[in-house]
Amino acid sequence: MEQILNFQTYSNALKKNKLLGLRCAGCSTITCPPKMTCQACAKTDLSVVEMSGTGKIVTFTTTYVAPMGREVEAPYVIVMVELDEGPWIAGNLSGIDPVEADMRLIDRRVRLGHKVFPGDRYSSGEAARPLFSLLH
Ligand SMILES: [Zn+2]
Repeated sequence: MEQILNFQTYSNALKKNKLLGLRCAGCSTITCPPKMTCQACAKTDLSVVEMSGTGKIVTFTTTYVAPMGREVEAPYVIVMVELDEGPWIAGNLSGIDPVEADMRLIDRRVRLGHKVFPGDRYSSGEAARPLFSLLH
């Protein structure tokens, strides 16, 4: 089966602050990050769409002990964002002191940016990951 949107293409778009997803021809659900099948109905008739990159924080966690290769960043905040188009994606949150992160973050509006993380012994090299910033 051919993969319509592979991770490299997704990551390269993210480096331009473009968030790509896959729209299902069967049920219109948008899947993001990319998968082989629709996350709602498992059909494979998908087309690439660019999303707005805006959404709201559904939940978050503050990491004080980072995995190997990311120690230099700790502490940092990871947020789960419900995008305006529907899918939920995780990313880092910028612009706040991680120690100050609390429940007031829930439902806050955010906009997508990106950060390029270097590769480590567990990955195939550098990759762009979502980096969200708070709106108003
Ligand atoms: Zn579907």
